[in-house]
Amino acid sequence: MFAKLPTTLIAIVLASFSSGSFAQILENEAPAVPKNIVIMIGDGMGPAYTSAYRYYRDNHDTEEIEQTVFDRLLVGSASTYPARESGYVTDSAAAATALATGVKTYNGAISVDSEKQPIPTLMQQAKKAGMAIGVAVSSQVNHATPAAFLVHNESRRNYEAIAKDYLDTDADVILGGGQRYFSQALIEQFEQRGYQYLSDMQQLDQIQPGKVLGLFADVQLPWAIDEPNSNHLSRLTQVALDQLSQHPQGFVLLVEGSLIDWAGHNNDIATAMMEMHEFANAIEVVEQYVRQHSDTLMVVTADHSTGGLTIAANGTYEWHPKYLKNISATPRKLANASLADPQWQTSLVQQLGFDIDTDELRLLDQARMQGEAVLATAIKQLIDKRTNTGWTTGGHTGIDVPVFANGPAAKLFSGQQDNTDIANKIFSLLPRPGKAATKPKQPAAEVSATDKIMRAFHQDESLTTESATDTVEAKTQSPASDAAEIEPETTSQTTEEPSSLTTEKPSSQTESQPSSLTTEEPSSDKAIETEAESKAQTPQPTSDENPGTQPNVDTDNPAKAQQSADTVQATQAASPSSPELNQSATQPATH
Ligand SMILES: [Zn+2]
Repeated sequence: MFAKLPTTLIAIVLASFSSGSFAQILENEAPAVPKNIVIMIGDGMGPAYTSAYRYYRDNHDTEEIEQTVFDRLLVGSASTYPARESGYVTDSAAAATALATGVKTYNGAISVDSEKQPIPTLMQQAKKAGMAIGVAVSSQVNHATPAAFLVHNESRRNYEAIAKDYLDTDADVILGGGQRYFSQALIEQFEQRGYQYLSDMQQLDQIQPGKVLGLFADVQLPWAIDEPNSNHLSRLTQVALDQLSQHPQGFVLLVEGSLIDWAGHNNDIATAMMEMHEFANAIEVVEQYVRQHSDTLMVVTADHSTGGLTIAANGTYEWHPKYLKNISATPRKLANASLADPQWQTSLVQQLGFDIDTDELRLLDQARMQGEAVLATAIKQLIDKRTNTGWTTGGHTGIDVPVFANGPAAKLFSGQQDNTDIANKIFSLLPRPGKAATKPKQPAAEVSATDKIMRAFHQDESLTTESATDTVEAKTQSPASDAAEIEPETTSQTTEEPSSLTTEKPSSQTESQPSSLTTEEPSSDKAIETEAESKAQTPQPTSDENPGTQPNVDTDNPAKAQQSADTVQATQAASPSSPELNQSATQPATH
């Protein structure tokens, strides 16, 4: 004992000393401008989600409320409103376009502006600068968010066209779901261009260096709550990092926790918290990578918030996430199992992990007689009642979203900013197009780290603004120029945008934004809305847990969303026009 103690002490002293100096070395070596950038988007992950996740993960046996990865990495917040013609509430396409290009556009647009002209994306600039690029998502890979980073399309609904356009992106890593959108012929074309194609997660163990297209589900990846230990998104994130790390000139990776939004549209708190958990796992994978690679920046945010989630409801100051912890499947899956099971009450109690009283069982029984969708809604309402969770809509809300960052230049993202600012800051950290393989110059060694960042930032700002006229000219010359093909000189921000590059004045950027964006309402937007409305009148109950399987309609439609919310509030689970049905009909319109 006495002999051991000094040795232990020495070991502790040595360990803390060496870890301290190691950290110092890392800090000294960290460049002002990152070589690699990982952008992570929690789709629909407004502040209510990150707060709820904190209490959901809280260890009730300890006095304190433990920090989550979100608490640890929080640096600021961002506004999310789309271009003028789409009002204040964004859809995922317009928000992803803002985050991928630094330009606001109409809801439904995939990196095209209000005149439907393609806007250069971060990924395209990175590729032109000789970097590797990749996406890893839990939705289909050609869903709005990853699509806006890779290609251009006037509508997010054009899934097949978007999938085809992925061929020309030269993306190094494409991982997620969406087999149904990639025909055998298309996959062969990918293979001819040197991609290895994977269709099963187990194949990830044998992945080869080089380009990879991995589609692991027909549409979305399985819900985390249904396969709690599968860790699909965090696994794909690790694989993407491993693949892209092999690239000597750095990389830009987009990771999306896509299904948080889908659970939010379903007003399904149990599923939402498990999707949050898997997204948090993915963030921790990247955080670990950043710890080991001091030249890598991670920026995490949401595109908007979904569902109007509230922590506590009905005038009661309580929220009880403990009831969520033992729920073993999506309400939809629980409902499905209950329909076929004569002993459904017993097994439902087991699967939910909490008791159900006689009145509640009676309501569930009434719902069960009306089928899976109605029963699933009744189960969700029971979970909301137990946990005291509130929702205001089946669509999106316009609240600002949190921003998280770590690594070189992470400070650029602190404070309040607009979502377009996030993209423009990242643009400023990328090597200039046409100067492939040229690493950004390191500012002089004696300058402070913050000065270095700001200097590098402003240096790039002037460079970017400088070539803005080229962009305008290029656009005028080839108004009909299509998606994937953008001339190198257009890969900078447009003239309307320069103030958005100035971190100090995010609000002036929003004021001065785009007279050009407001001049003309895209005609197809109208058409899309009409179609969305006609879809909304046709209940499609089978699609509740899987919005992606429906014909996809994009647009935000506040009126419709409100209608959905009203329905949710006004309708009993047992009613034939249940919220589940209405909601599923309106869902695709509101992603
Ligand atoms: Zn959505």
